[in-house]
Amino acid sequence: MGELHIQNQVQTLRKSFQRGILKTQKQRIALLSSMQKWIVEHEKEIAEALDKDLGKPFMESYLAEIQFILSEIHLVKKKLSSWMKAKKVSTNLLNLPGKSEIISEPYGVVLIFSAWNYPFQLMMAPWIAAVAAGNVTVLKPSELSPHTAQLIEKMVKDIGGEAALVIQGGADRAQQILEERFDYIFYTGSTLVGQKVMEAAAKYITPLTLELGGKSPCIVDRDVDIEESARRLVSGKFFNAGQSCVAPDYILVPREDLSTWTQVLEETIQQFYGTDPSNSPDYTRIISDRHMTRLQKLSEHPQAMQIGHPQVQQRKMAPVIVPNISWDEPLMKEEIFGPILPIIAYDSMEEVFDKIESREKPLALYVFSKKKSFADQVIARLSSGSVCVNHVILQITNPNLPFGGVGHSGMGRYHGYFGFETFSHQKSVMRKPHSFNPITAYPPYEKKEFLPKLLKKFQAFF
Ligand code: NAD
Repeated sequence: MGELHIQNQVQTLRKSFQRGILKTQKQRIALLSSMQKWIVEHEKEIAEALDKDLGKPFMESYLAEIQFILSEIHLVKKKLSSWMKAKKVSTNLLNLPGKSEIISEPYGVVLIFSAWNYPFQLMMAPWIAAVAAGNVTVLKPSELSPHTAQLIEKMVKDIGGEAALVIQGGADRAQQILEERFDYIFYTGSTLVGQKVMEAAAKYITPLTLELGGKSPCIVDRDVDIEESARRLVSGKFFNAGQSCVAPDYILVPREDLSTWTQVLEETIQQFYGTDPSNSPDYTRIISDRHMTRLQKLSEHPQAMQIGHPQVQQRKMAPVIVPNISWDEPLMKEEIFGPILPIIAYDSMEEVFDKIESREKPLALYVFSKKKSFADQVIARLSSGSVCVNHVILQITNPNLPFGGVGHSGMGRYHGYFGFETFSHQKSVMRKPHSFNPITAYPPYEKKEFLPKLLKKFQAFF
C-alpha cells in the first residue's frame, strides 16, 4: 500500500463524513449495536487471537478486553442521547437578550493508533468513543499483535461500512499515515513514539490525545494487612505478565517491613501461579523476543529473586522480585512493562515524596493504607494520571472516571463520557434576537462614555 493509496482511502472516508454518515444518533447507535453484536458473536475468535498474540488466559481476555468493551458500548448507547444534546448555559448580562449553548460537534476524520498489550480493548475503546461523537475513523493496530490486528480488520470490513477502515503495518506505515491530514489523532503507546506523533500532528495543528506510559509507583504504609495487600498488588502487577500501562511498576515499603513484604510477595505469586509460573496457563506470554531479551537483561540483578524458570522459546518470563533496590539503578530508569517487581525500602515519607516528585509524572499511583489521612496526603502531594487506594489497576474500569496521563504519561482522557468529549469539538453558540439590541458600542464612540462608566460601576454583574 503506497502513500497515494492511503491518501485515497482517507479522502473516501472524508467524503463519507461529509455525506453525514454518522451525523444522527440513530446512525451512531446502529454502528455501536453492530459492534456489540459482532463482538458477542466472535468472542471465541477474539480470545483465540489474543491467545495467539500473547498467550492470554481466557479469563484475562474476557475481563480486560471483551467484557470491558461490551460494557463501554452498553453505557454509550444508554447515554448517547443526553450527551449529544446541546448544553444550554446562562448568558451574561452584557449579552442579554440572548441565548447560549454548547454543541458537541464531531471533528471529522480521526486516526487511532493502538498498542499491543491489550490489542483489542485499546483499539475498540477509542473507536467506540469516536463513533459516539460522530467521527469516521482510520484504525492502525499494533503490528506486534498481528492476529488481533487481522481480526480487527475483519471486524471493520464486516460492520464498519464507509465509517471506518484499518491500515496495517509498523513504524514506516505509521509515518506514512501521519503524512495525511486528520481532524483528530488518538495515540496509545510509548512516550518516545508519542513525541513523534505529536510532531507530525503539529504540521496541520491537529488536536490529539496521547495515552502513554511511565513508572507507576505503589506506596505502602506501615500497619497494613500485608497478605491481603500483596494479593491485590500481585493480581494487578502480574495480570498480562506485567504488560499493563497502569501496572504498579515498583513498590515502596517501610524499611522495617522489607523482608516480610519480600517473603509474602513470593508466597503470593506461588499461590496464584504455582512454583513455576511460566508453566501456568494463567500466566501471559511476553509479546516479542526483543521485549523478552530486554526484560531478562533488566532482571539481571544481584538481589533478584526469580520464581520458577523462564521458558525463553515460549517467551514465558519467570516473575522476578528485586528487594531493596536503590533509586538510581537501571531498573528504576525505564518503565518495566513486564513481570519484574522492584521493592524500595523507605525511611520517611518526605524521602518518598522527594524522589517521586523529581521524576516524570506517573500514569497511575497506588497507595495501601488503613488511614484515610495517609492516602489523602499522598493524593494531595503527588501528581499522577490516576490514583487507586488499597487496590491496583481497578480505577480504569470505572467509566465514570477519566482515564489518561499527565505530563510524560500523556495528555487527554477517555472512557465513558470523557471519550465522547475527547472526540467532540465543543462549539460555542450564542443566539441574539434579530430586532432588539439594547447595549451597543458602535463607533463613533463620542457620547458613549457612559458605557465604560456603567461597566466599571457594575462590573460584577456583567
Ligand atoms: P509503541 O509506541 O511502540 O507502538 C504503539 C503504536 O505506534 C503502534 O501502532 C505502532 O505501530 C505505532 N508506531 C510505532 N512506531 C511509530 C512511529 N515512528 N510513528 C508513528 N507510530 C509508530 O508502543 P508499544 O510498545 O506498542 O506500547 C508500549 C507502551 O505503551 C508502554 O509505554 C505503555 O505504558 C504504553 N501504553 C499506554 C497505554 C495507555 O492507555 N496509557 C496503554 C497501553 C500501553
